[in-house]
Amino acid sequence: MIVANWKCNGSRAMLDEWVRSYLNEKDIQLDNSCLILIAPPSVFFNELSDKISKNNINIFLCSQDIAGMTRKHTGAISGELLIEMNVDKFCIVGHSERRLFYKEDNQIIKDKVVECFQNKINPILCVGETEGENSLANTKEMIEKQLRIFENESISEGTTIAYEPVWAIGTGKTPNPKDVNEIHKFIKDVVQSLSLNSLNPKVLYGGSVSEKNAKQFFSEEFVDGALIGGASLDGASFAKIVNIKNGMK
Ligand code: PEP
Repeated sequence: MIVANWKCNGSRAMLDEWVRSYLNEKDIQLDNSCLILIAPPSVFFNELSDKISKNNINIFLCSQDIAGMTRKHTGAISGELLIEMNVDKFCIVGHSERRLFYKEDNQIIKDKVVECFQNKINPILCVGETEGENSLANTKEMIEKQLRIFENESISEGTTIAYEPVWAIGTGKTPNPKDVNEIHKFIKDVVQSLSLNSLNPKVLYGGSVSEKNAKQFFSEEFVDGALIGGASLDGASFAKIVNIKNGMK
């Protein structure tokens, strides 16, 4: 699974260019079973969805956020609205920018995850440590705290975790893929033991993934894909990463 997170980037002109360069670069000879999602700004849901279906592109839309069950307020987007827009497969929740700049704590994020479950939308929960926590060797402890939101919840089959070390997002710095693999195994074990139905989630790596380093991450046993910010804004770069993943099956 590969997820593009466009954040607040995009324009009508960019959508056309993105689709053109994605199609130009995408290798249709490869196994195409990898699930591909784009999380554009919600104002582009309709336009991007039209372009994807007109060009027969096998990409699903994903939301960058959702209002919690109790937070359907001004400026927010609810599960019902996402379903109305056919953005009903996946939703990113708890991105570090939401935690840091919008002060979302575990309680708020849990509320959002439950809103996803109630609307049968699979959450992609972002977790990860800061640089300071990493240097104090507190990574697992921090992640375990963030994963507690699954305690006493029955998770959906498609529940996905994105391991995104905060210090790797948009910085060009990346952790060692072997260390990422160990953290992913840890995340799978913690979620399986916390959740009521003991499902094993998919775990994506996110943080400065590019066409240059994607293969190293995808080669690791417990890395099920990637969540990609900067490199997803260019259709050709994103297609190259998708080709790498599809070529490794
Ligand atoms: C992100 O914002 O979630 C992200 C992974 O960004 P980047 O790929 O640019 O580090």
